[in-house]
Amino acid sequence: MDNQVDEIKQKLNIVDVINRYVPLKKRGRHHVACCPFHGEKTPSFTVSEEMQIFKCFGCGKAGDIFTFLEEYEKIDFREALEELAKLAGVTLVKSSFIDHQESKKKLLIEINTQVAKFYNYILLSHPMGKEALEYTTKRGITLETIKTFNIGFSPDDSKYLSNFILKKGYKIDDLISTGTFGKSNYGPGLYDRFQGRLVFPLPDYRGHIVAFAGRILPSTKNPNMAKYINSPETEIYHKSSMLFGLNLAKEAIRAENSVIVVEGEFDMISPYQSGFKNIVALKGTAFTQDQLQLLRRYTDTIILALDSDFAGNNAARKSIELADSMEFDIKVLNLGDKYKDPDEAIKDDPEFFKSQLLKTTDVWDFIIQSQLKSNDINTVKGKREILNVTLPFLVKIKSPVTKSDYFKKLANEINSNIESVYEESQKFLLSPVRSFNVGGPKPVEPVEESESKTEKLEELLLSLIIGAKNPSKLALKLKKYLDQLTVPRFKTIANYLLEKENFSLKEIMDSLPAEIQPLFQEIYFESEKNQIDSKDRLSEIKKATSKISSILLKKRLNQLSNQISKLESEEDEELLKQVEVEYKQVLEKLHQLQINK
Ligand SMILES: [Zn+2]
Repeated sequence: MDNQVDEIKQKLNIVDVINRYVPLKKRGRHHVACCPFHGEKTPSFTVSEEMQIFKCFGCGKAGDIFTFLEEYEKIDFREALEELAKLAGVTLVKSSFIDHQESKKKLLIEINTQVAKFYNYILLSHPMGKEALEYTTKRGITLETIKTFNIGFSPDDSKYLSNFILKKGYKIDDLISTGTFGKSNYGPGLYDRFQGRLVFPLPDYRGHIVAFAGRILPSTKNPNMAKYINSPETEIYHKSSMLFGLNLAKEAIRAENSVIVVEGEFDMISPYQSGFKNIVALKGTAFTQDQLQLLRRYTDTIILALDSDFAGNNAARKSIELADSMEFDIKVLNLGDKYKDPDEAIKDDPEFFKSQLLKTTDVWDFIIQSQLKSNDINTVKGKREILNVTLPFLVKIKSPVTKSDYFKKLANEINSNIESVYEESQKFLLSPVRSFNVGGPKPVEPVEESESKTEKLEELLLSLIIGAKNPSKLALKLKKYLDQLTVPRFKTIANYLLEKENFSLKEIMDSLPAEIQPLFQEIYFESEKNQIDSKDRLSEIKKATSKISSILLKKRLNQLSNQISKLESEEDEELLKQVEVEYKQVLEKLHQLQINK
């Protein structure tokens, strides 16, 4: 597989590949564009043709063609490989196990796609779908939207779908694996779980239909039928990571840097149809970690347009705690008492919806305000109720500053003081606080100041060498310093730099161990950012090397002085003398260095 990756890389030029998605402009030795991964007005997204890599100086995203495609299309490596292989005209050699799993998943998606097509045809073009179509359009859904979302209708009798799908030659077991079909108890055939329902295909964020949701029509007489049903969990459908509409909304979410979150299909579709495209729907009121991680790729701001009494809902509370721990900004879109859900608001007054969207409140404010509205602060009971609902939310706020701000606010609102509110809040802490560490910043180990300084200087030195006209020559000239580097990963790079006398940077990069490559790329781009002429470069190098030497000497002095005090107490005269001589020598060198500065 590795060879095929290389083969693809050799056949494709990163500039051409990225240009297909983001128009690049030549600037100096590089190509630049406004970054597709974060919003910006001046281009800091840089592509190096020489190195066949990219880096954004704004958000830090960097890598090669595979990384680019994975990030841009939100696909995994395997899919990026397939896409780029196609582009490069390389036929991929198949490996057995993964391919078996992959092809089963592909098959299920293919069946779902066929089924969705059938449902959609019935709704739009068949007499059996007439009533459902009337219902849908009466709800304000246009024909275009029906097509965009692939909405369909499943006929009351399962035999139509069974006949259609069996004719395509699929195996019964595979059909059952999709979750749409079951073996009929009454005959030889298959039954369709969604029969007699309006059906919404549920695509994953890439647009692959992984499941369905079905809603009964108002005319349905059978009282035993649930209003909504969904596909069961399957190999391709995991309810916990489903966000309805994300495949259509993701670009708008990224562009707006916010996502409106609603409950249920119609509440997502109506605003989307009216131009509010950065919107997704949950199944229920609670987020899962998977869903939040998906959203985190596109934005850090969530606008909740959920049922307004979600404050009393345990699951909702958990998911707000979870989103807060992942450092989302959580806002609430308040539709007031006028509308029960976004679908209703949009149909009645899209302008109101729009203006409320500009007036979102922080979720904590919303929770406090909603409780103040429904309770009387002048009674003991009212105050207690307010505290009982709001505090479980507030105690879980991750940022101590934000938390104390809201304690203050709450105390003011109920004419109390922050100390008492704080004391009240303690009892809500008894339930174990879960912490979610989701790729966020990890606690940094305390490092000695001089060590982090050395690290920066060593990186600077490498970047000055890599950015030079003839890095190879310069590296050899500075061998003395490169040999002394203390940070292992920089040392590795230095060794590769010194290995060959005449290398190209691309050759160096390709020969580096894979785990070091990203660092090398970063240093390379860093060096490109600080364009300086060769005279300045030499003086910068001199400064850096002298600083490195001075730190190393000071460190050595420290060691020696510790050794001296130890030896003094041990009364080892001879060794003591040796160490003292070295101490003097090192000190002498340090002075020399300071004079030359
Ligand atoms: Zn960027």
